[in-house]
Amino acid sequence: MSELKKGDKISLAIGGHITIIKELGRGGQGIVYLVDVNSQQMALKWYLTPPDDAFYQNLQHNVQQGAPSDAFLWPKYLTKKEKGSYGYVMDLRPSNYYEFGNYLLAKKSFKSFSAMLAAAMKICDGFMMLHRFGYSYQDLNDGNFFIEPTTGDVLICDNDNVMPQGEKSGIMGKARYMAPEVVAGGIPDKYSDRYSLSVILFMLFFANHPLEGAKVVACPCLTESFEKKFYGSEAVFIYDEKDKSNLPVRGVHQNVIRRWPIFPQLLKDTFREQFSQETLKNKNNRLIEQGWQKIIATIRDSLVICPICGEETFVDLTQSEYTCMNPNCAGKFKPAAILKLGLRDIPILPKSSLYIDNDNIPDAKVVRSQDDQNLLLIQNLSASPWIAETPSGKIKTVEANGFMPVKVGIKVSFGSGNKAEIIQ
Ligand SMILES: [Zn+2]
Repeated sequence: MSELKKGDKISLAIGGHITIIKELGRGGQGIVYLVDVNSQQMALKWYLTPPDDAFYQNLQHNVQQGAPSDAFLWPKYLTKKEKGSYGYVMDLRPSNYYEFGNYLLAKKSFKSFSAMLAAAMKICDGFMMLHRFGYSYQDLNDGNFFIEPTTGDVLICDNDNVMPQGEKSGIMGKARYMAPEVVAGGIPDKYSDRYSLSVILFMLFFANHPLEGAKVVACPCLTESFEKKFYGSEAVFIYDEKDKSNLPVRGVHQNVIRRWPIFPQLLKDTFREQFSQETLKNKNNRLIEQGWQKIIATIRDSLVICPICGEETFVDLTQSEYTCMNPNCAGKFKPAAILKLGLRDIPILPKSSLYIDNDNIPDAKVVRSQDDQNLLLIQNLSASPWIAETPSGKIKTVEANGFMPVKVGIKVSFGSGNKAEIIQ
């Protein structure tokens, strides 16, 4: 047991020291303190019982490598071993980011579906970068994510268990987020991370657990042996196509019962696939992060502003006429045109934000022309110019913040190199 107090000075491995200001919070593993680092306020995670040398060396390695992406509240400095323990220093979490658990309990909610999709995209991107750096997260769960409700920006915390692929931190992760093969005793790796990612995404969208339905509710007491069944050997998705034994229970799993019908079929099909018996049992079948990003991009394409009620609505991109999903509206409307971008069909409607890539920053916005209310324009919100080609072959540059008309037959090359065409 090693606690620190206000004014204590702790040496950093790279030299210099930090000063304890106050305690910010504590968990099973350690205490987080507000600290002063060269007049800058940062956070120190201090272990109550110091983990072994291998853990210390791994942390040192991660500090040297730096964060895989800005989604991570990554260890920035490691302390020396002092006062019977050690810890690491990271940036402070901004106060407008809330723990994912708060969203699951409806203490916090996303301001929009757009923010929810941005959060999903950012989480996938973070894990893609993490795996690209050769790490596996190992201990993925709802306590690791902090989300800004308006933008959907995400910070992933507790990165001290991040290990190179194939190495075991000794942390098994929380049962509800562990892949079935890890529940059965296997070593966490990028495949098990991908399972945990599907669970996190499912919970982000539906605010219930994908494997917690009637079977779990019927269980008198969730002992370890029951946990091993429900999350491991006998796991059944609550909306499994063939096995209806674990359906969500009214009054218990209200969130998913209410939200499941709202989301596009593609998302539901993807979860059905990811939690099918075949995929639960075969880790190679799991969708990689880029696969998820494509799905989320398509779902985001189908999120538009209903021209009748002005609210966000998902539309069925396979139909030529859309129906607003808001029950008080249920209005029918058609897109002005479609922006064909590779395999994606992005409906063009007034007030739509268009996302060409996956960075959560809208690349374009659809607005009405001030001169002609019947003419829609696409505004270039990106920093680089686009090149547009009219149906008659004229080439025009659409500068940053500039506009191009929504006219069928116009082809456009975005700064990123992506090419699209406006079709009916
Ligand atoms: Zn509507």
